[in-house]
Amino acid sequence: MEFVVLAFFCGLSAGVIGKLKGSSFWIWFLVGAVLPLIGTLAAVLYRNEREEPHRRCPECNNVMPLHNQVCMRCGRDLDWPGETPPEREKALPGASPRPGRGRSEPLH
Ligand SMILES: [Zn+2]
Repeated sequence: MEFVVLAFFCGLSAGVIGKLKGSSFWIWFLVGAVLPLIGTLAAVLYRNEREEPHRRCPECNNVMPLHNQVCMRCGRDLDWPGETPPEREKALPGASPRPGRGRSEPLH
């Protein structure tokens, strides 16, 4: 019985630490419960996902990882803001600005 209590609290601490680092509480709870102390230590040493670049959806202000190309909340298509040039820029003939992103048709 003592081990169950110990595992619970170790899981809890690992879960809280994992959650604070932007990861899933339940994943780290399980890791901490199965591997007391080691799991907690792993959660402490786990890289902080919140340090990764994030951006904000212009539509609903939802903050999400940079690599998301579609907003998880409102489903808005997001442009890739980084170094990798989007296809439409490569396809641009000269400097003529092209409205829309190709598939969005102008309103009739
Ligand atoms: Zn959104």
